[in-house]
Amino acid sequence: MSPADFTIHECSRPECGLRYPYVIDFEFGESCPRCRGETQIVEHQKRAPELINDPSETLDQKIELLIDNVRSVWNVGSIFRTAEGFGVSKIHLCGIAPTPDNIKLKKTALGSETQIPWQYYPNGVSACQELLSQGSYLIGLETTEKAVLVEKIQAPSLCRWVLIVGNENCGIDPGILPLCNQLTQIKMQGRKRSLNVAVSVGVALYQLRML
Ligand SMILES: [Zn+2]
Repeated sequence: MSPADFTIHECSRPECGLRYPYVIDFEFGESCPRCRGETQIVEHQKRAPELINDPSETLDQKIELLIDNVRSVWNVGSIFRTAEGFGVSKIHLCGIAPTPDNIKLKKTALGSETQIPWQYYPNGVSACQELLSQGSYLIGLETTEKAVLVEKIQAPSLCRWVLIVGNENCGIDPGILPLCNQLTQIKMQGRKRSLNVAVSVGVALYQLRML
């Protein structure tokens, strides 16, 4: 999706003063979304056409993604968009994970679902076994004692890497964990031990791309 021209509006009521980008299908029309008062245009932004990368020039290592039983369409849609941005070459969807056939997923994936080849498997364990037999190197993203930090992963550079994420509440399927060639985790500094699954895929892909 290419960024559109847009205007910045400001609410005319001094006691409100909301400043926001105006989007054409805003449910409030041109009135202030905070106080419903009148607004005025304070900036008019013309956008240059979005630059398109040639993936063949930027990719030397093939990275694929396996999404097992991630339940939320928003999470899977967001993962598609992130994966497209980082040049993921294929997405494997397993179990209850929604596929791009789902209308709601198209909304969050913003067109990226048409750019990445994907395949659905009802059983994530057999999907992993199949990928292993094809010579893929499976990297499970899971917070466990055995997991190394993403930036310290040592994966053979010649084979296809498949980053695996599991369900929002249960994590990676216990039948998939022993099939992973490596387990990896993201260094956390807050009190929570994990990130939202779509966010963690973004962080992990960014770091895998640096290796
Ligand atoms: Zn207002």
